[in-house]
Amino acid sequence: MIVTALALVTLGPVAGPARTASADGCYTWGRALRAGLSGGDVRQLQIRLAGYPPYGGRVSIDGGFGPATRAALRRFQAARGLRVDGVAGPATFRRLEALQDSDCTPIHFSYREIDDGCGGSGFDGGRASSSTARYRALVTMWKMEAMRHALGGRPITVGSGFRSIRCNARAGGARNSRHLYGDAADLDSGPLALCTLARRARYHGFRGIFGPGYPGHSGHVHLDSGPGSRRWQAPRCRL
Ligand code: ZN
Repeated sequence: MIVTALALVTLGPVAGPARTASADGCYTWGRALRAGLSGGDVRQLQIRLAGYPPYGGRVSIDGGFGPATRAALRRFQAARGLRVDGVAGPATFRRLEALQDSDCTPIHFSYREIDDGCGGSGFDGGRASSSTARYRALVTMWKMEAMRHALGGRPITVGSGFRSIRCNARAGGARNSRHLYGDAADLDSGPLALCTLARRARYHGFRGIFGPGYPGHSGHVHLDSGPGSRRWQAPRCRL
């Protein structure tokens, strides 16, 4: 049985209480995941695969392992040098667990760098509940982790992420900016040119991409995952 085999690999000979012990304080999967399954464990997988949609598309985080999740998993496996079989088993889980911190953020990003961008902390005071904004920030970070890896592992610096209404006004953000909802991140140039970031973002699940050549975006690239059809505007980058 798959479940038993996985449990042995995960836990070793000493199986503890019914609940699988967490490898790192965040989350540990207790069964292999494949097309047709559903549940909270599938959802946890989908959050970490959010950066592996088809070009211009998005990964649904709905707890159902369908063809789109399988395709995203295959892209993850290919990107990370794993066997590409569309099934999340021990090797895939080990890789995912190695990519996450104990608070479930990916290793190269943190809540601290994406929470209230005016020097405050947390996800209060925006246009979404604090927990929703925080969750969206988490998904955004997993997208950026995929993007960072695809760009050779060079650092990506987030200049501004979630903003409270007060912070957004102070930052001169648009009245209904996605920063108020928690799913936006502004990236600064660093080792990577802004157009490199903007162009690469198209592969990692962002609905909004605004960069060089778009008014007010010459010094950073704005990414977001708001509702509706995509808007990619960075005339100087030829998206
Ligand atoms: Zn922005």
